[in-house]
This record gives sequence, structure tokens and C-alpha cells, in this order.
Amino acid sequence: MHEAAPINPWVALAYLVAGICFILALRGLSSPTTSRRGNRLGMIGMGIAIVTTLVTHVPMETVGLVLEGPSGMVAAIGPVFARIDIVAIFEILAAIALGAVIGLTIARRIAMTAMPQLVAAFHSLVGLAAVLVGCAAYLNPGAFGIAVDGIIFPVSRIEMGLGVAIGAITFSGSVIAFAKLNGNMSGKPILLPGRHILNLGTLAAILGLVAYFTQDQAPWIFWTITVLSFVIGFLLIIPIGGADMPVVVSMLNSYSGWAAAAMGFTLGNSAMIITGALVGSSGAILSYIMCSAMNRSFLSVIAGGFGADDSGGASGGGEKIDRPWKRGSAEDAAFLMSQAEQVIIVPGYGMAVAQAQHVLREMADKLKAEGVTVKYAIHPVAGRMPGHMNVLLAEANVPYDEVFELEDINSEFSQTDVAFVIGANDVTNPAAKTDKTSPIYGMPILDVASAKTVLFCKRSMGGVGYAGVDNEVFYQDNTMMLLADAKKMVEDIVKSLD
Ligand code: NDP
Repeated sequence: MHEAAPINPWVALAYLVAGICFILALRGLSSPTTSRRGNRLGMIGMGIAIVTTLVTHVPMETVGLVLEGPSGMVAAIGPVFARIDIVAIFEILAAIALGAVIGLTIARRIAMTAMPQLVAAFHSLVGLAAVLVGCAAYLNPGAFGIAVDGIIFPVSRIEMGLGVAIGAITFSGSVIAFAKLNGNMSGKPILLPGRHILNLGTLAAILGLVAYFTQDQAPWIFWTITVLSFVIGFLLIIPIGGADMPVVVSMLNSYSGWAAAAMGFTLGNSAMIITGALVGSSGAILSYIMCSAMNRSFLSVIAGGFGADDSGGASGGGEKIDRPWKRGSAEDAAFLMSQAEQVIIVPGYGMAVAQAQHVLREMADKLKAEGVTVKYAIHPVAGRMPGHMNVLLAEANVPYDEVFELEDINSEFSQTDVAFVIGANDVTNPAAKTDKTSPIYGMPILDVASAKTVLFCKRSMGGVGYAGVDNEVFYQDNTMMLLADAKKMVEDIVKSLD
């Protein structure tokens, strides 16, 4: 008869401390001023969790280490060893070192603009890890202490079934999100006929099979759950496109957390349960906030493109036709801004591509020195990941009190002399308010069009934003197009201000 291993109070305490560090890390990340501290706390928490897991599961005498610590710690850990197959510390350390080198290399090389696809790729790995742990536990339940005479405990079957299902959905969904964000696949929604029935039917089948799995642990049930979950992950993400992609990335983040939490139960690892639940719930809250900010229904996006219009695609938003527009130079822009009382800067994806944030701050400093009030307006989905613009502006040491969220600044555009749009497009497009066929319809926008003058910096009239639609603001009487790379244009403006 299998005896459940006693919970070692020191291990429980260490995991608790790690959990508290994670909670404080999330709290720190809620404001740019405390985010660095938050990140550090997260790293400390993860360090504690990893070391604790290692000393819990690896007999230190095999590597000549002696556990120092309060009396009773070693004795209490003993029974835990008894139920775990002896694992080689060197294999684990080699795997950690290899992973760390790969992670470090990618993190150092990755362009900020490619961050969303990197995040999607990481989520896919979390999902895959959950599936692999679930498969290992199913194939060798005795090693995980979740079976008696090969019969897996019913509660463990639920954890395993749900963990594998969520992990597989996260994996295939994240692979599709990666392909869309990386340009390997069109970002437009792919709308299969009868997709709602197909999705609902597949989800119902997965849930039914997980329930049946508690009665019968036959291999066909386990593997069918796994395969159907891979398929539904794919089906849920292909219909999503345009303005909904940011929400999907944060939702997949949430799924990856729930998959890890479910596997934490299977492994009996409380740190994994805590971390998974924190990631799962914070990702869900972020998705909800983004849905509200984007005027999207949370349930529609989770259910997979429920809001997408079958006739849609990215065709709406105004066809490109030959229309008059005004071109301006850096000197014109410098003159207009230096004469203004207030300038609102609207950064977008193009600023990130051009890496123009440092010279932009220099420009703002010069304008402020001339008595101009300068503010930055941040749209919730500007750029290609949540908080993208805030990170870049913080990197350039832009004072936090000059940076405003959409709802806090939108009413100011109508009393502002100059709106300086730098590499943003979709987030300023009035089609989101007026054109029901537009893929961004319903998304709130920054009302740059109501400023006295709009300076619109982008490279060409032909280039479109992520949603692939033209922008009415280009052709307004009060708009002056500054066609150039954002960094080059702002450098020239700074020279003219000198
Ligand atoms: P957009 O993608 O709408 O527009 C970017 C603009 O930048 C284009 O007009 C482009 O025009 C211009 N540009 C590109 N490179 C440069 C450069 N080097 N110098 C100057 N301009 C440049 O960006 P927004 O930030 O306005 O909108 C974000 C979009 O991305 C939204 O549709 C959002 O839904 C989507 N999205 C957001 C995510 C998030 O989490 N924030 C994640 C995934 C998608 P040109 O080529 O002519 O230069």
C-alpha cells in the first residue's frame, strides 16, 4: 500500500516564501517605478523554488554535499527520497545550464519588436512541458506517487486530464500565435464554416472524456484527450486576428499558468501550484482589462473569434485611393512644435522599430526648455505587446508623470496644438469608431484627429499598420505627413530645434 510522503515543514516554508516573493513581484510590476524591484523579487522567489526542489528531490550525498540546516530537516526530507526515483544531479544541472545558456542568448539577441512572438514561443514550451509531465505521470504513475498497484487515484486523473488538456491547448494555440505574430502565417482571421459548433463540440468532448477518465484509465481516453486538445488550441486561435491578437497573447499566458498549476497537483509541488495560479489569474485579469480597453467581449475572445465577422477580414477601414495629402519637413515640424503651448506625443510600433525613443526624449527636453508642455499618450495595444511603449519610454528615462493612459488624456487632444504621432497607426484610426467592416471596429482610439495640428511620422503613404487598413487622418486638412524613418526624422527635428 502506497504511503503518502509527509510534507516537510521546511520545504513547505521555503515554497511559501517563494510564493510570497512572487506575489510581491506582481505587486511591484503594477507600477513602472517599482517594476525593477518586482522583477528582482520574482527572480529571488524562483531561485528559492528551484533550490528547494533540488534539495528535496536529489540526495545530496551523491554529490558529496552535506545538508546544513535546522535539526530534523534532513530526517524529514528522507521519506521524500523514498518515493522518488534517484535522479542524477549532474543531468539536472546540465539541463539547467543548457536552458540558461539558450535563454540568455535569446534574451540578449532578441529585438524588442520581436518580443511578442518570443513570449508566444515561451508559452508554447510551458504548455508542452505540462503535456510531457502529464504523459510521464500517466505512463509511470507509481514514480509520481499517484497510484496504487497501477490504479491511478481518481483525483489525480482529473488533475492529469485537465493539465494535459490545458497544456496541449496552450501549446498549439501559442504555436499559431507565434506564426501569426512572426509573419509565418497571415495575421488575418481564418474563419472555418461552422466553427462555433466545431469548437463547442470539441470542448464538450474533451470535458466529457476527462470526466470519463476518472472512471476508466484506458489509454485511448488519455490519448484522445491529448489529441483533441492540440486540435482545439489550433481551432481557437486561427479565427483571431487584427486587434484581438494582444488579448490572445495574454490569454495564452493565463492558460500556461493553469496548465502548470494542474501539473503542480500531479507532482505534489506546492510552489508550482502557487506560481501557476498566480500566472493563470494575473493573465486572466490582464486579458479582461485588455478586453475592456478594446471594447471586446472576454467570452467571445476566449471562445475563438466569436466576434469576428465572416464577411470581414482586414478589408475594411477605407480603401487606399488617390487623395490629396500634405507633406511636411523636419523644419516645419520643429517650427510648429516650438510655437505650441502643448504637444502630445503618440508613440506606436514604428517608434519601436526605429528605436527612436532616446532621441524622442531629447526632442521633448528641447521643447520643454522652450516652455512647451509635453505629454505622451499610450494606447493599451500600441506596439506589439502589452506595455511595449511604457517599457521603451522608461528605457529612455522619460519621466513617468509625463506618460498618460488613453482614458486619462483622450479629452485633451481637442485643446492641444500639436499631436505628434510617431510610428503609430491603428491606435489613431477613426475607422475603429465609424466603419463596421473594419477589423479594428469597436477598439477605442487616441483622438489625435481633434488636435489643431497632427504631425504623422511614418516611412511611406503605402505602409499600413498591423490591421492592414488605411487611416483617414493622413488626408485631413490639419495633418502634415512626415515621411521618413522615425529616428532619422526626430534627429532632424532636434537639429532644427537647435
Ligand atoms: P501599427 O502597427 O498600427 O502601425 C505602425 C506604423 O509604424 C505603420 O504605419 C508603419 O508605417 C510605421 N512604421 C514602421 N516602421 C517605422 C519606422 N522605422 N519609422 C517610422 N514609422 C514606421 O502600430 P500601432 O502601435 O498604432 O498599433 C498596434 C497594432 O498592433 C494594433 O492593431 C494592435 O492590435 C496590434 N497588436 C498589438 C499587440 C500588443 O500587445 N500591443 C500584440 C499584437 C498586435 P510605414 O510602414 O509606412 O512606416
